[in-house]
Amino acid sequence: MHPDVQKLLAVQVDDVLLYDLEDRLASLQPRLAALEKERGKVSAQLDRGRESIAAEEARHRDVMLKVEANRALVERSQRAYESVTSPKEANAAIAQLEQTKRMVDDSERDAAQVQGRINELRHHVADLEGMLAEVETRQAATRTELETEKQAIDAEIVAARAKREASALLVPRAIISKYDRVRLRKRSDSVFPLRGTSCSACDTAIPTQRRSVMASSGALEMCEGCGVLLYAAE
Ligand SMILES: [Zn+2]
Repeated sequence: MHPDVQKLLAVQVDDVLLYDLEDRLASLQPRLAALEKERGKVSAQLDRGRESIAAEEARHRDVMLKVEANRALVERSQRAYESVTSPKEANAAIAQLEQTKRMVDDSERDAAQVQGRINELRHHVADLEGMLAEVETRQAATRTELETEKQAIDAEIVAARAKREASALLVPRAIISKYDRVRLRKRSDSVFPLRGTSCSACDTAIPTQRRSVMASSGALEMCEGCGVLLYAAE
């Protein structure tokens, strides 16, 4: 085997290890996403609950303004009643006073209803806060585990890349770039030996002339059947 081919096969070993590490890293993603999904569901409900409280509180402030305005009307009607000068005026003033008192009652009832909704929503939000805390506590161990695993793989990848780069420096530039084009497409083993007169990956026969060039010069040829790079083993 040509020494360049031997060195290229060493690069390929490094690359396959890197693919494996990258796959392991990628496999953590769905596990993390599942945790996020579970937490996100409760968290979104909590956000909606808090928004509802804010909306009801704004409504409550408006209703309380109406209560205040109606109470002011009662006071004004009371003063008007106290300053009447005839029975006819007194009847009109009493009717006015009663009407404004009913308006106060109505708006106070509205305010109490809104306050009731706010109280219910606060209970609901407190429940959801408890659920979220429970989910987060339950997930904490798994998240730590995933993070530890990720850091370990990241470190392995850094080391594996450095090793790969060092191995690649030993192979002539032209061979490496040809190999890189093939491997990036395949993302797996991409250099194979001839087996007899054929490609050992797909059994496509390689013409005699190309085989003898490969054997004499150590050149790598792309298999027309499956696209891998072929070398003459012996
Ligand atoms: Zn082939």
